[in-house]
Amino acid sequence: MKKTLLLLFLLVGSLVCRAGERPKYIFYFIGDGMGHNALALTEACLADEQGDDIGFGTLRFTRFPAVGFVTTWCANRRMTDSAAAGTALATGQKTSVGTIGMNADRTEPIYSVAAAAKEHGMRSGVATSVSIDHATPASFYAHQPKRNLYYEIAMDAPAAGLDLYAGSGFLKPEPSRQPSLYDALEKAGYKIVRGDGELSGKRVVLMQNEGANPANLPLAIDRQPGDLTLPSITRRSIDFLMRDGGAKRGFFLMVEGGQIDWAAHSNDAATLVQEVKDFDEAIGAALDFYREHPDETLIVVTADHETGGLALGRDNLGYDTYFGLLAAQKCSKGHLEEAIEAASGWEAVKTLLGERMGFGGQVVLTDQEWSQLEKTYAEHPGRTAGAAVELLARHAGAGWTTGSHTATYVPVFAIGASSEKFNGRQDNTQIAAALRKLIEEK
Ligand SMILES: [Zn+2]
Repeated sequence: MKKTLLLLFLLVGSLVCRAGERPKYIFYFIGDGMGHNALALTEACLADEQGDDIGFGTLRFTRFPAVGFVTTWCANRRMTDSAAAGTALATGQKTSVGTIGMNADRTEPIYSVAAAAKEHGMRSGVATSVSIDHATPASFYAHQPKRNLYYEIAMDAPAAGLDLYAGSGFLKPEPSRQPSLYDALEKAGYKIVRGDGELSGKRVVLMQNEGANPANLPLAIDRQPGDLTLPSITRRSIDFLMRDGGAKRGFFLMVEGGQIDWAAHSNDAATLVQEVKDFDEAIGAALDFYREHPDETLIVVTADHETGGLALGRDNLGYDTYFGLLAAQKCSKGHLEEAIEAASGWEAVKTLLGERMGFGGQVVLTDQEWSQLEKTYAEHPGRTAGAAVELLARHAGAGWTTGSHTATYVPVFAIGASSEKFNGRQDNTQIAAALRKLIEEK
């Protein structure tokens, strides 16, 4: 009897251990500005693509077994920004608005889970769809009192010594009378790779080809063949981190979908949906890896805050929704704005609105709506694209309350080793604290 009990005890013990197994490979996906409704709207659009105008489709990561919701307030405001929220998600400590990797009164540096991973022998990297010196990636390697100190932030990258930095580029790599960031990176052993170049060597910085806008990768909705994309960055980062001892020592990789936030700031619903789908595809690269290493991989997906106060449902439509109409939009608000600026007169603009927004085709406008658009174009041509995007959202039934962030809760999803730790209600600092524990007790 005693023997049986002991055996049973050992068996249960080993099962519990397996469920709580410490991950060797950790993925941390942060959708900037990605609230619950960004996901709900995207999933409604996925259903519409399948001809279902009532239900919801599913993104890859919303099916993860561990699900929770996250409070995002920062040290000095209920409504956070990407610097304070990024720092909380990276370090496990609340800080003040605009602060990168420092305590709330900006007197001491505080260190991220990427730094902890490096310290514990894992390989480590950060990747983003915006510039590498932007708030979210910066929170994982830099320590600066202000998020707009782009040069100082970037110069912290070689000092932090993570194995990989990837994104669209740097905003201020070579200010006058200052040492060049690229020289500092090369001196620290980094190989700078552009576009689809091979990620080789021990340490690497991946960015877009020369001449591309360093501030961001092209938005998914505006993408052209040959553009650098977040899914491709993610896939190549995984391959790179597995080399040079990574397969043995494990790795930590943070991937930010940085332009979900920007689309939401612009109240550009169709662009937001495409960015969320693109982010999901980047997560797909990690999921493929997870399927090969299911017992050793952890994937956590969350957001730093919600942006835009997005809602599914509007007064003008009552209980109806037509989210499928968002598919009529063929470019971002920014690209539409540029095209309108280059167009000569209202007739040309009207044609553009037909081609790029489906106005007059799939999206049926009233005479009053047309004349309001014409009036906007005549009086403030620069506001026409914004008015068009808002009009499409109105017809679709998607609404926004703000062009800023909101204080609403955001979701968290996890799959893999120790993923159960991310179930339930939690604060953003607890996510980093849980990751840190998994890394340090490895
Ligand atoms: Zn933002």
